Amino acid sequence: MGGDGELAHPCPICGRPAIGRAWQYNTICDECYSKPVCRAGRRVDGHNTSLGGGFEAAHLDDESVCDQVTRDGTVWIDGVECHMGEAKFGGVFVGIAPRE
Ligand SMILES: [Zn+2]
Repeated sequence: MGGDGELAHPCPICGRPAIGRAWQYNTICDECYSKPVCRAGRRVDGHNTSLGGGFEAAHLDDESVCDQVTRDGTVWIDGVECHMGEAKFGGVFVGIAPRE
């Protein structure tokens, strides 16, 4: 822990304070973290496939693996396209690439 991970920034979805940054993405807040859906509109949640990392997304309704999100990491929150993936030091993040 440490580094730039402690700084809060506005959640790119709702503007509430959000903590952390992953790769180039602005991560979303805890509130929005419970909302991502896959292309099919089903709630998905990401997890590491092993202690060493790896990433896989699963549908919350029947716990089946979501191939689409596992493959491309694209999820939607309130209709906004976001990216879900493996964080730098394990764990899973959801964020939005900064708009230039
Ligand atoms: Zn939010």
